[in-house]
Amino acid sequence: MKNLRLAVLCITLSAFGFGAAPTGRYKAIYDQMTAMETANPGLAKVFSIGTNDEGVDLYALRISTSPQEMDKFKIGQFLVATHHGNEGGSTEVAMEFMRDLIRRYQSDELWRGQLGQTEWTLLPVLNVSGYNSNRRQEHGQDPNRDYPGPCTPNGYGKLKSIRTLMSFLETRSFAGSITAHGYVGNFTYPWGFYTDNNKTLDENRYREIARKVADVNDYSYGNAGDAVYPANGCFEDYIYWKHGSWSLLLELRSGSQSDVKATVPAVATFYDLIDSTASSKNQFSANCTRGAEVDLRVE
Ligand SMILES: [Zn+2]
Repeated sequence: MKNLRLAVLCITLSAFGFGAAPTGRYKAIYDQMTAMETANPGLAKVFSIGTNDEGVDLYALRISTSPQEMDKFKIGQFLVATHHGNEGGSTEVAMEFMRDLIRRYQSDELWRGQLGQTEWTLLPVLNVSGYNSNRRQEHGQDPNRDYPGPCTPNGYGKLKSIRTLMSFLETRSFAGSITAHGYVGNFTYPWGFYTDNNKTLDENRYREIARKVADVNDYSYGNAGDAVYPANGCFEDYIYWKHGSWSLLLELRSGSQSDVKATVPAVATFYDLIDSTASSKNQFSANCTRGAEVDLRVE
């Protein structure tokens, strides 16, 4: 009983975000998010999805007309950036998209579209130590190879940041999700792992959506396994396979200010085009194949 109480206390404390304070470049991002909340308390709320291996809170911004609490009845949309710590442009696109959303919530677009029925969760920095040291990996692991998948069910979730994110993704459904990276200049969609058939049952739909999204900022697009090298353990495959979330991998071209600015409307277009619920055709039905010895993908 005592142990149970202690466990409950620990869970409660961590749920209220008693992790280590943000430092370095990550603190600057955290400060920008809290400033957005302070300026827009009726639209934006900073919260922790849980901690990483250092005990640092992974902070997200929730944007909705009722941001204080999660509302599972609203349409869930998700964006995560900075799996790779040296892709700072991805952090910037997440921040710029937050600003764009708040601006749109303050305009009459709120009454014309689906914004009023939508709840956004935006996680700008997943790999905190990598971001602070400008390194791709986190503790020597590639965070975007750390998710389980239909062909690789075991040996994943080495990083606590990834386990924390996977747990958070269980807390509500997300119709759509974007994972931001750099620097190629394209949009890709599942499947991206090693298989003899990387076309999902949603291939035609995905292709049509990605074409329209890529039109906005003049990027290329395609199936992840075709457009870049396949790789196992990636977020974009995981969230579609596990949860049916319409999933897009954004590869910024250069991450420059103008590139980020041109890409924000493309990101918005993706969430406009997808269904308001997750796909139910997300089952993997092809065959797994053996991965290459060397992971050649530099997304
Ligand atoms: Zn990347």
